[in-house]
Amino acid sequence: MILGLLKEHGEETRVALLPENIKALADLKVNILVEEHAGENAFTSDQLYIDAGAKVVPRKTVFEEADLLLQIQSPLKEDIALIKEKQIWISAFNPLMDSELVREFLKKGLTTFSLDSIPRTSRAQAMDILSSMATVSGHKAVLEAALRLPTFFPMFMTAAGTIRPANVLILGAGVAGLQAIATARRLGAQVQAFDVRSAAKEEVKSLGAKFVEVEGASEDKAAGGYAVEQTEEFKKKQQQAINDHAAKSNVVICTAQIPGRKAPLLLPKEAVDNMKPGSVIIDLAASTGGNCELTKDNETVVYNGVTIIGQSNYPAQMSLDASRMFGKNAFNFLKLIIGEAGELNLNFEDDIVRGTCITHQKEILNERVKSIITNA
Ligand code: NAD
Repeated sequence: MILGLLKEHGEETRVALLPENIKALADLKVNILVEEHAGENAFTSDQLYIDAGAKVVPRKTVFEEADLLLQIQSPLKEDIALIKEKQIWISAFNPLMDSELVREFLKKGLTTFSLDSIPRTSRAQAMDILSSMATVSGHKAVLEAALRLPTFFPMFMTAAGTIRPANVLILGAGVAGLQAIATARRLGAQVQAFDVRSAAKEEVKSLGAKFVEVEGASEDKAAGGYAVEQTEEFKKKQQQAINDHAAKSNVVICTAQIPGRKAPLLLPKEAVDNMKPGSVIIDLAASTGGNCELTKDNETVVYNGVTIIGQSNYPAQMSLDASRMFGKNAFNFLKLIIGEAGELNLNFEDDIVRGTCITHQKEILNERVKSIITNA
């Protein structure tokens, strides 16, 4: 089998595989074509790919010769036209939100896998790009907040007086939220966190943060560890608690999301009105609508002295380690679909292969994507 690694487009700086992954794939008897300059924004030269056993070729050749095409982002319109029916497309293309793209794949009869749909089971943990990228985002969000803040993060007792530590509020204590707590604690801040899943409480406390308790949250075991939509009564109580805590915080990191839906609104304009000038809000949910009412995706807004940063792609600002984590996850997934002689081996009985496969032979295999498209 020939695997083709494509160069990303636009502002993306990551690459889906690094030379260390190429070496491991070559050991599995896979031939690898790497598009010229694929790794350059992640500080990885073509020569390093060649040394690892890949052939570096123009983009056109990758599309002509590879059996399997791999990149991180969704394909561009012009790329879809180049993908042949017998080729397999693998990237992270957000099929729960991008129904138009899924329909396009269906129409062309392509076999496609979306790495952001890997089931969240223990066996799939080593392939879970959402967790890896959320780890990068949680960490980077806190570092950005610390740089923007007009005050210190840690407490200081100096001859010039005592400096109080920063108060950081984390909304959503999933993978990104927990990493944000850990980073903020390492920098010496006092941290409070809030989530609707009761399982998050112990995790928050074990990282040295306080859990903001609001009673009456809805949970659903069938949601696979994810949050579900909350009742109106709960939302009102939650709003009051968040408003009170936000008013005392120097930093709010928003990470709350519900897969396939708009992000919950947790910081309305009135809550921001009560925050101290100089405070910083980082909204990691910006691309799905944001947790803060004033967030603008990919923009920084200053409102009454409060800086609101809508940023959902911090991994692109940490290109090398984000690529390292993505590459290891992608390699672990590829191992599942590679046979002993390096051939393609698609076993749809395997829950990870089936759950990650979005379209195959003009059918949608992923159940959640299927229900969204058929009920649209
Ligand atoms: P996510 O990005 O979908 O959401 C982030 C957090 O926001 C979640 O903790 C969610 O509960 C919270 N949230 C949603 N709505 C909220 C609201 N209205 N108010 C406050 N908080 C709200 O989730 P995620 O971080 O990707 O993962 C969530 C959980 O899934 C994890 O904590 C873990 O238990 C589980 N998980 C399992 C695996 C695995 O087993 N392979 C991998 C990753 C995550």
